[in-house]
Amino acid sequence: MGGADWDVAVVGGGIVGLGLARAVLARQPGLKLVVLEKEPAVAAHQTGHNSGVVHTGVYYRPGSMKARLCVTGARRMIAYCRERNLPIAMPGKVIVARNEAESAGLREIERRGRENGVEGLRRLDRAALAELEPHVAGVEALHVPTAAIVDYAAVARSYAAEIAAVGGEVRTGTAVRGFAPDGPAVVVETTAGTVRARQVANCAGLYADRIAALASGHWPAEVRVLPFRGEYYVLAPRAAGWLRGLVYPVPDPRFPFLGVHFTPRVGGGVEAGPNAVLAWRREGYRRWDADLAELGAMLGYGGFWAMAARYWRKGLGEQWRSLSRGAFVRALQGLLPELRPEEALPGGSGVRAQLVLRNGKLMDDFCVRRDGRFLHVLNVPSPAATASLAIGDELAARLAEFPTA
Ligand SMILES: Cc1cc2nc3c(=O)[nH]c(=O)nc-3n(C[C@H](O)[C@H](O)[C@H](O)COP(=O)(O)OP(=O)(O)OC[C@H]3O[C@@H](n4cnc5c(N)ncnc54)[C@H](O)[C@@H]3O)c2cc1C
Repeated sequence: MGGADWDVAVVGGGIVGLGLARAVLARQPGLKLVVLEKEPAVAAHQTGHNSGVVHTGVYYRPGSMKARLCVTGARRMIAYCRERNLPIAMPGKVIVARNEAESAGLREIERRGRENGVEGLRRLDRAALAELEPHVAGVEALHVPTAAIVDYAAVARSYAAEIAAVGGEVRTGTAVRGFAPDGPAVVVETTAGTVRARQVANCAGLYADRIAALASGHWPAEVRVLPFRGEYYVLAPRAAGWLRGLVYPVPDPRFPFLGVHFTPRVGGGVEAGPNAVLAWRREGYRRWDADLAELGAMLGYGGFWAMAARYWRKGLGEQWRSLSRGAFVRALQGLLPELRPEEALPGGSGVRAQLVLRNGKLMDDFCVRRDGRFLHVLNVPSPAATASLAIGDELAARLAEFPTA
């Protein structure tokens, strides 16, 4: 082990860090691996605050990491949940075009889906859509029968149990505060003592860029993680009972978010959302949550202003929909015209970690960087929960490539 107490230290006990850790131990049994998580339990942030959808891979650019890892990851996620008796259902989904302009977008999604190898895709005309989802309005739709719903926090806890069962360690309540080089190892300073490791995998989600900055002594020059909150409403039983599966609009191709949609939850009920509004704090789950230091750092990043200039119209629309329940409900009525405002009740929220480039663009694909003994997982937004088993394998291979000396 070259003098290090641990072969691998993983920062972050979300589904990506845990998925990586289980894959490392499956690939190299007996390796000494520790996961360091700042919260008292795993899955406390993005992994425990998402839509619970096993995405199929229709949206993503063919050849991208997202496309490749989502398609294989989705099949594996479904098999994993079934084998381990974790909650899962496969209601399928429709992506609905509401006018001719959206039909063109729908055709592009279908083309991508077929090229990515998504199974069972079927175009529905207005009548076929009405037969499948009688309450949903649209001129045509794409039916994606393999879309499933799961509980990603339960999946993450299952990964953690697997890690512990083969001798790995998951330390909760252990926040990483800094790093120091130490010969053939890195000393990881935490709120619960130090850990010496030969390699460090940074899977810190909303704080991945900050961990990268602590590792190198400076912020990554051309990227920053910005937090985008997604707010949900919950449908009242009458409206929830109308829907058979997941119902999505055709997303705006300039934006990596999917537009507000309807998602049945595996534990019951139907959620509507999430929107995508900038949060004033990385773990800002409520509208007025703010952290002055984090806000200052965000406003001091040139990419923030470039993003604001690029997407101001879209951003204002999303902010307005966040503040106005009426505006949110009107967006939902575009898909479900019979929905009454009082049938959409405020629900929970989640905060997405989204990498923003200096030119203001939102990084579309997953992004992983090697820097010496560090592997930084900088951008793993949706569909990373879906893809977590496949991402884990890919990252474990990257860690195994590192010279042992
Ligand atoms: C609203 C919303 C809806 C989504 N819907 C879906 C969906 O339907 N399907 C899908 O596939 N994906 C979805 N996603 C995306 C998915 O949830 C994420 O891609 C995935 O959870 C990322 O996992 P992670 O482990 O990288 O991040 P996280 O789950 O955020 O884990 C990172 C962990 O690092 C820890 N950490 C941070 N800093 C430190 C530190 N200094 N020391 C120690 N620990 C630290 C945090 O506490 C956290 O537990 C959604 C996300 C959101 C927010």
